[in-house]
Amino acid sequence: MRSDRRAVVVGAGSNGLVCAIHLARAGLDVTVLEHAPRPGGASSSVEATLPGFVHDHCAGFNPMTAASPAMRELELEAEGVRWIQPGAIMAHPFDDGTAIALHLGLEATVASLDGAHPGAGGLWRELIEQYRPLAGRLVETIFGPLPPVRAPIALAAALRRDGLLLARRMTGSVEAFGLDVFDGADRPTAWLAGSAQHSGLPPSTAGSGAFGFLLQLIAHSYGWPFPAGGQGAITDALLAIATREGVRVRCEAHVERVLVHGGRTAGVALKDGDEVPARDVVTTISARPLAALLPDDALPHRLMRRLRIWRYSTAAFKLDYALRGPVPWSAAEAREAAVVHVAGELRELAAAAQAGERGEVPERPAVVVGQHTLLDPSRAPAGQHTLYCYAHVPARYACSDEDVAARVEQQFERFAPGFSELVLARALRNPQRTEAENPSLVGGDLGGGSYELDQQLVFRPAPELCRYRTPLRGLYVAGASVHPGGSVHGMSGRSAARALLADRRLRPWRA
Ligand SMILES: Cc1cc2nc3c(=O)[nH]c(=O)nc-3n(C[C@H](O)[C@H](O)[C@H](O)COP(=O)(O)OP(=O)(O)OC[C@H]3O[C@@H](n4cnc5c(N)ncnc54)[C@H](O)[C@@H]3O)c2cc1C
Repeated sequence: MRSDRRAVVVGAGSNGLVCAIHLARAGLDVTVLEHAPRPGGASSSVEATLPGFVHDHCAGFNPMTAASPAMRELELEAEGVRWIQPGAIMAHPFDDGTAIALHLGLEATVASLDGAHPGAGGLWRELIEQYRPLAGRLVETIFGPLPPVRAPIALAAALRRDGLLLARRMTGSVEAFGLDVFDGADRPTAWLAGSAQHSGLPPSTAGSGAFGFLLQLIAHSYGWPFPAGGQGAITDALLAIATREGVRVRCEAHVERVLVHGGRTAGVALKDGDEVPARDVVTTISARPLAALLPDDALPHRLMRRLRIWRYSTAAFKLDYALRGPVPWSAAEAREAAVVHVAGELRELAAAAQAGERGEVPERPAVVVGQHTLLDPSRAPAGQHTLYCYAHVPARYACSDEDVAARVEQQFERFAPGFSELVLARALRNPQRTEAENPSLVGGDLGGGSYELDQQLVFRPAPELCRYRTPLRGLYVAGASVHPGGSVHGMSGRSAARALLADRRLRPWRA
C-alpha cells in the first residue's frame, strides 16, 4: 500500500468506525487509534456490577441508530445485531401513582395521555398524524450534511404555512412546545419535556422543543429499539465490517498531536512517543480535546478559539444496578416501559435542570432510567434485572458521589417504594471518571457539547467546520461536536469520509 493512501481515524466510537469502513471501502489504508483498552467509545456494554449482569456503559437506546441512513445502509443485522423493539417505550410517572406512557402505537399513547388529561390524546394524535408521514424527510433534513437541500424543499411543500408553525415550535423551548400543543396542560407537557432531557437542554431553553418532539415522533416512526445483549453488539458489528475491509484498530493508543508538515497533515503522534504517518487524519473527538491536538497555528485563530471555548453541558452521573427483581413502580405503565423518566411534575423537571446549570446537584434529580431486562433476559441471570440510570449534574460539585447516588435513590423510593431492597450491587460513575475513560466526554457531558442554538447546525462547531473539512489540508472532523451532533448514528463519520474521498477524487461506497 503506498504511503499516500494512509489515513488515520482518531477514536474508535461509532463515528470513527463508520468513517473507517467508508475510507477502507474506497481503497484507503486505514488505522483507527483509540485511547481506551477497547473500541466502542460511548457505545459499549460491560459487566459493571456482578458477573452475568451486562450494563450499557453510556448509550442505552437507539432511536437515532434506527433512523440513521449511515447505520441502516451498513446492515448491522447481517453482522448479528438483533434489535429489540419495545411496544411500551417510555413512561413518565407522577406522585399519585399514575403515569403517561409513550407507546410505539399511536392509539395506546393517545389513551394514556387522555387518562392523564382528557383531550390531550386527541391533540397528540392530530400532531403525529400530520408529521409521521414526514418523519423520514425530517430525519434527512436534520441528519444530512449542511446545507440540506432536497428534503427541506419537500418538507416546505408538504407543510406550507404549518412549516412556519413547526419551525417556531422546534426553535422554542420544549416547555413552550408542550403547553402550546396540549392547550396549557402541565402533565402532558412534562411527559414531552422528559424526552428533551436526553439532549441535556433544560426544558425552558430555546431549541429544546426540537429534541423533545423529534425523539417522540421518531418513537412513533422508528421506535426506540436497543440491541439484544447490550450496546456492545453495535460496536462488534461495526468492528466486524471494518476488520473485513482491512481496517486496523489500535487500542490504548492515545493521540497527543496531529503532525503538520508543509501546510498539511502528516499523521499523528501518540502519548507513548510513537508516530503514525498518514496523509489524512479524521478526528472524532469533541471540540476542546480536538483543539488540544493541533499546533497553535494549524487553524485560523478565531477557529482555534471557537474550539477552545466550546461549551459543554451538564454531566451525566451514571448509575447501574443489579437487581433481584423488577422495579416495583407504583404506576403500572412504568412497570412495563423500557425507559422511565423519573422527575414528576413539569416544575420539578425544570428545577432539576436549573440546579444543574447553576452548578448544584439537584435535591430531586431528574433521572433517565432504562429497564432493558424487561425485554432482554440475556443481560442478567434468570429472574434478575439490570437498571440503567443517569441524572444530569454539574461537571464538578461540592457533595460526595454517595450523596448524589442517595438523592437518585430517594427519587426511586418516591416512585417505586421498596426499590432499595432489590439492590444486589451498584456501580456509579462520576463525571471525572467518565472523562478519564473517554477524554471526548469533557466534564462528563454526554453529547459532545451544549445543544443551545448557537452550537447547532452550521454553528456545530463552526461554519468552516460543519461540513467536515477544515482549513488545514488533510484534516477532517466528525463526532458529537460536529453537525448533526451526538447519538449513535454515525452520520458525521460517514460525511467526513465522503468529504475526504471527494477531495482525493476517490469514488465513495454507496449502498
Ligand atoms: C451516559 C450517556 C448516555 C447516552 N445515551 C445515549 C442513548 O441512549 N442513545 C444515543 O443514541 N446516544 C446516547 N449517548 C450519546 C452517544 O453515546 C454518543 O453521542 C455517541 O456514541 C458518540 O459517538 P462518537 O463516535 O462520536 O464518539 P465516542 O463514542 O465518544 O468515541 C470517541 C472515541 O475517541 C476516543 N478518544 C478520545 N480522545 C482520544 C485521543 N486523544 N486519542 C485516541 N482516542 C481518543 C474515546 O476513548 C472514544 O472511544 C449517551 C452518552 C452518554 C455518555
